[in-house]
Amino acid sequence: MLHGLTLPQLTQKLAAHSLPAHQARLTFQAIHRHGVLDPEKMPGISERCRNVLLKFPPLPRLSVTSTHAAEDGTLKLQLATPAGELLECVIIPSQGGAGVSAGRHGGRHHPATRVTLCLSCQIGCAAGCSFCFTGTMKLQRNLEPWEITEQFRLASQHAPRPITNLVFMGMGEPFHNEAHVLQACRIFGEDIGAGFSRRHIVVSTAGVGNRIRPFWETGAASLSLSLHATTDEVRNTLVPLNRRWNLDALRKILLDIPWRKNETITIAYLLLSGVNDSQADAQRLADWCRGLPAKVNLLDFNAFPGGTYAKVSDSQRAAFRQWLHDYGVFHTLRHSRGDDVMAACGQLAARRR
Ligand code: SF4
Repeated sequence: MLHGLTLPQLTQKLAAHSLPAHQARLTFQAIHRHGVLDPEKMPGISERCRNVLLKFPPLPRLSVTSTHAAEDGTLKLQLATPAGELLECVIIPSQGGAGVSAGRHGGRHHPATRVTLCLSCQIGCAAGCSFCFTGTMKLQRNLEPWEITEQFRLASQHAPRPITNLVFMGMGEPFHNEAHVLQACRIFGEDIGAGFSRRHIVVSTAGVGNRIRPFWETGAASLSLSLHATTDEVRNTLVPLNRRWNLDALRKILLDIPWRKNETITIAYLLLSGVNDSQADAQRLADWCRGLPAKVNLLDFNAFPGGTYAKVSDSQRAAFRQWLHDYGVFHTLRHSRGDDVMAACGQLAARRR
């Protein structure tokens, strides 16, 4: 599908029809910057290019089947594939972020506003994390690159402001669909398209250890690791991938990476009442992060039907943050967003219609 091709791939494809590289660039720009999939409406392309594009089958699209707006401004889009399979992405506007758009609007700054798009990369997920609603639906299939770029195209039409950040934290484990996620990151990163820099794309893994270093080497996105526990005993129950790549193995993999200047890795830590929120956990978390360019991102748990975990109290969260502070751990707190419409982390689980 043309809208799932990187610029070099599209250039090669159109060159096979004797079209010059700049027509490929204009086509890429029309699709990924202007969101136009219909060759008849693509601005700037030549008549010959238009005629070639019209010979290809029409580009398949995702459609928005419903939108769910939360009180905090979060907007969940439920999308359908042409075959009627459902997936979801979430638009999260926030105040106070750095909010620098990544070049696609001429490097324009959006002061103090950030619009994050949380993307899905699979329908369902095989990782089976016990706190995650998506994990309960098992893996249905991987999304194609064009199905990932389509989420951005449609979300851009619904977002209150231009999308400034992309995070692969929706449905699916990115490293279980690594080739397509990488392809999508390369498309999103192309200057003449959406133009997101590496800093503005985050790929979040639950810990597929052997793929962390190879993906990091591509430089296509920043990384986030969902740690969530400080002992293997607890992490085995929360993130079954831990049985394959445990805490020591993951730490060693990260320590061996020659991190670039000013690069960080986000360590996501979901606070669960009575499970991973003790002072000993805070200390072990500090020890685990030592020597890494880690930024801990504390997350609130979002309840879902059938789930057995509970959110920490405000006072326990404050205590945990104080312990991290005392142990010298740089951390941020991400308040749960959109949990009244099941759009929050770990709550995405569209069902097949
Ligand atoms: Fe999959 Fe992420 Fe849910 Fe784990 S938390 S089951 S990796 S979607």
